[in-house]
Amino acid sequence: MKSQGIAVLGATGSIGTSTLDVVARHPERFHVVALTGHSQIERLAEQCLRFRPRYAVTGTPEDAAALRARLQGRADTTEVLAGPAALEEVASLPEVDVVMAAIVGAAGLRPTLAAARAGKRILLANKEALVMAGPLFTETVRAGGATLLPVDSEHNAIFQSLPADYAGSLEASGIDSLILTASGGPFRNTSRAALHGVTPEDACRHPNWSMGRKISVDSATLMNKGLEVIEASWLFSVPARQIEVVVHPQSVIHSMVRYRDGSVIAQLGSPDMRTPIAHALAWPQRITAGVAPLDFHALSGLTFEKPDLDRFPCLRLAFEALEAGGDAPAVLNAANEVAVAAFLEGRIGFMRIPELVASSLAGLDLAASTSLEALLEKDAQARRHTERQLAA
Ligand code: NAD
Ligand code: MG
Repeated sequence: MKSQGIAVLGATGSIGTSTLDVVARHPERFHVVALTGHSQIERLAEQCLRFRPRYAVTGTPEDAAALRARLQGRADTTEVLAGPAALEEVASLPEVDVVMAAIVGAAGLRPTLAAARAGKRILLANKEALVMAGPLFTETVRAGGATLLPVDSEHNAIFQSLPADYAGSLEASGIDSLILTASGGPFRNTSRAALHGVTPEDACRHPNWSMGRKISVDSATLMNKGLEVIEASWLFSVPARQIEVVVHPQSVIHSMVRYRDGSVIAQLGSPDMRTPIAHALAWPQRITAGVAPLDFHALSGLTFEKPDLDRFPCLRLAFEALEAGGDAPAVLNAANEVAVAAFLEGRIGFMRIPELVASSLAGLDLAASTSLEALLEKDAQARRHTERQLAA
């Protein structure tokens, strides 16, 4: 089998690092063509020295200069580029077969669309890109002849639990619904009153998963599950009413598919992102991921609860945005990104996050944008609106 060239967008992050961990286990299958990182230049330099990519991309020219200085005389074959256009460039290089889309937030949209246009195999971790641009994104994948494989553990689990010939119709495949599991996050048992006082550190202390800070806060508000509901809707062509969410604190069942005949098919595993990453990297084959086998004797039990939409209104807002359609998911996402950043900076309390998202959804025109430029302008508008509410 020919070695696959891979570009890892967001290589320095949690998903990027896990991806390189899996890639390093299979040197005969994969070679790294490009690595990108927005900060953490030291880590990006280490990754370049280890994986010898043809290209590395930083956020700013200053960071590019710093990276060049670190690589000089040690990895001179790596060309260092900077900025958003360079991200699109490396995502569409002819020598790249696989693009891991692991940038966090809306910043990942353009490079992921570039990969789609270039017909790449896209491993999608960057759920915000799909949430904000569902119709445009899926159409670009189709037109570009790209292959979109979900890395988000729930969607990867659903992908594994669907029939292999699933063609985008639940009805035709005898499916009643998709069931997304949610850990419930670090505040599953925290009272509404106490939620007002939680800190960014509390929010980033997830019981089962170790992740970047933005998605950690999203997991704590359950906005992560809300974004995943929208993500599932676009990935599998499923309306909101056929997506269920069940809280499953052990994070062993990663999600399920409910069939018409009463069968429920689930995918199980340890909570380790290397499993869905390895699955998407090798699909339809299977490769080792470095993940410990699931030990059933060590499990205390598998339990299930209803999500509490009163304490976690973000999940309700996401369902409503999906139902509303148009630009509602993009506005929801943009407002949430700004609110989460403000919470992480200590500017607002935890329960202000859903308030700010609701305010943006209520205050902006949600009619569907008909071009990427219009969509990005709507994203910018929602950010400005949320910033103004913050300042008020
Ligand atoms: P992270 O914060 O650890 O890493 C983010 C990466 O994106 C870093 O490499 C960073 O340098 C880069 N980046 C940040 N801002 C950028 C910008 N403006 N331009 C270019 N690059 C930028 O985040 P993560 O936890 O690895 O998550 C990445 C994505 O994967 C998110 O969309 C997240 O929702 C999704 N995801 C993560 C997990 C997980 O377990 N961490 C699970 C499922 C999905
Ligand atoms: Mg997930």
